[in-house]
Amino acid sequence: MPNSSSIYLHIPFCKRLCGYCDFPKTMALGRKGEVLAAMGEEVVRRSAELEGTVLKTIYFGGGTPSVCEPEELGALLEKIATAVDCTAVEEITVEANPDDLTEEYLRGLRRVGVSRLSIGIQSFRNEDLRMMNRRHDAAGAVRSVESARRAGFDNISIDLIYGLPTLTLEQWEENVQKAIELNVEHISAYCLTIEENTLFGKRGVQVAAEEVVEQEYAAMCRLLHEASYEHYEISNFARPGRRSRHNGAYWRGTPYLGIGPGAHSYDGGHLRSWNSPTIGAYLAGTAAESEVLSEEELYEEYVMVRLRTCEGVSLNEIATKFGTAKAEEFAHRAQRFIHDGVLLQRGTNIAFAEGAWLVSDGVTAEFFD
Ligand code: SF4
Repeated sequence: MPNSSSIYLHIPFCKRLCGYCDFPKTMALGRKGEVLAAMGEEVVRRSAELEGTVLKTIYFGGGTPSVCEPEELGALLEKIATAVDCTAVEEITVEANPDDLTEEYLRGLRRVGVSRLSIGIQSFRNEDLRMMNRRHDAAGAVRSVESARRAGFDNISIDLIYGLPTLTLEQWEENVQKAIELNVEHISAYCLTIEENTLFGKRGVQVAAEEVVEQEYAAMCRLLHEASYEHYEISNFARPGRRSRHNGAYWRGTPYLGIGPGAHSYDGGHLRSWNSPTIGAYLAGTAAESEVLSEEELYEEYVMVRLRTCEGVSLNEIATKFGTAKAEEFAHRAQRFIHDGVLLQRGTNIAFAEGAWLVSDGVTAEFFD
């Protein structure tokens, strides 16, 4: 059976820069037209890289894809359809800023075939949103989800951030409750991290104290379980049947084509490549950089990615992909963590206990020399 595959399109434009953001992006919106045209050409030029696979998911990420008109995103989808068989596509996601989501805009997205929204809400509280320099306010956050429903979206994900210095545990719980009340199908929740090159890094903003972060994480897990969300990846919760198919494909290691400035691609084997993140270099046609991953690097990536998921690592899969000696080594190293209750073994799968996920980085490192 042919491998499934995905296309990621990176729209690098934002109208405003958020304090915590470390993604490749620019406010040079005047260059949007030429970048989108170049992305359309890139899709066609590179479509052969997906030959022999079945395209299942398309994802517009950023940056802020919703700074594009629905017709502009639709034109990129048409380009894809001219070059790749799209008949088996199951999910087309657009990341969006709440401020851009008028009902008319959302109906436009539906018209061009978008089936899933990922809305960057981050918080339902004005104080947090101002601190993060977000474009929207709390009322706009709620309105965006309600408008998406009216426009016919039945697969809505929202992003939330915890560990904010402006947020108490009770206020975080209210944020999670608000998401539950809005009945969104999917929630991605990330702990604030501060990178040096961001506005927060330069201003010396601090993440909330470690014990507060732990309490916020535990409260979120409890509230979302009670509301029937599955905690299927360290940062992701979904109603049954509503997990992100696109992210699932990344975690399964299937091939993906990354289009646009800074976008990464993977051939499903040993080759990973990435486009230049600067718009000038991208438009000038600067060749993508690439690396060939060794068997050991592929194994480490497999373990790291899978331990972030609720299914965890499959010993059978390790044996098939990397040999029985590797599977035995993993099982051996896992023993003391299973004994301590940090890892759980179900059949031949080994995964983190939910409460241990937050401290998983240190444990994962123990699987490598
Ligand atoms: S968080 Fe999103 S909207 Fe904010 S600057 Fe980064 S890419 Fe742009």
